[in-house]
Amino acid sequence: MLFPVDEVVALGPILRSFPEFNRFYNEERQKRIGFIRWFRDFEMPDGFSAYANNLECAVHYGKSPMSLEDAHIVAHEIMHLIRHQENDLLEIRYRPEFFDLVFRLTNMLEDPIVELFLQKNYDFDLKISYLSAINYCRKCVKKETNDELSRLINGVDLANYMLRWRLIDDVAAQNEWSSYLGWYKNLRPHSYEIADQIVRLVWIHGGAYGAETIENQKKVVAAMINLYPQIRSIISI
Ligand SMILES: [Zn+2]
Repeated sequence: MLFPVDEVVALGPILRSFPEFNRFYNEERQKRIGFIRWFRDFEMPDGFSAYANNLECAVHYGKSPMSLEDAHIVAHEIMHLIRHQENDLLEIRYRPEFFDLVFRLTNMLEDPIVELFLQKNYDFDLKISYLSAINYCRKCVKKETNDELSRLINGVDLANYMLRWRLIDDVAAQNEWSSYLGWYKNLRPHSYEIADQIVRLVWIHGGAYGAETIENQKKVVAAMINLYPQIRSIISI
């Protein structure tokens, strides 16, 4: 069930409570993008609190944003929309049944770039949502399957977080992350290995914090297609 919500109503509480979000709103949301559609979605997929729909210039969210973590996530989704409108992002062609892989792949390329921007310019505390993602995953992540596509999807997701965690310089949080990685590696050795390979490709063709330009993102995806021939028939750029 989707309910359209007025932006002022949806964002009012976080605009009033968090100066970093307020500043972000005035500098980026107001200046760089026009009308955004907001939907409260009562059937959010598991593990998601919000996501951006670039084609509809919309943000879907589960519960109303209230906390600093929510404010960070909302700013993150707005940045996806802004980057999509301004940069005409990398377009990956794919067979419709592989939407999930492509959705996660696009996020893996974009998320670390967006997060670096939010931390550097607005001082958002990224580790709050990363630590809650760890908590969530510790409860939900199951043993590895034999299915190659699932392993690849899991690897892409983990690579996304490996790149994002490079932005965190808090020792206690990093210890949590290392311990989570050890646990994950034990549970899903193949997905872990794939994540590790993908991070290396991003590093080679982009940089330590991700691949920012379309050209570099293309190189990463091309290198992935080379490395995993099974996706050659599924996606192309
Ligand atoms: Zn994202």
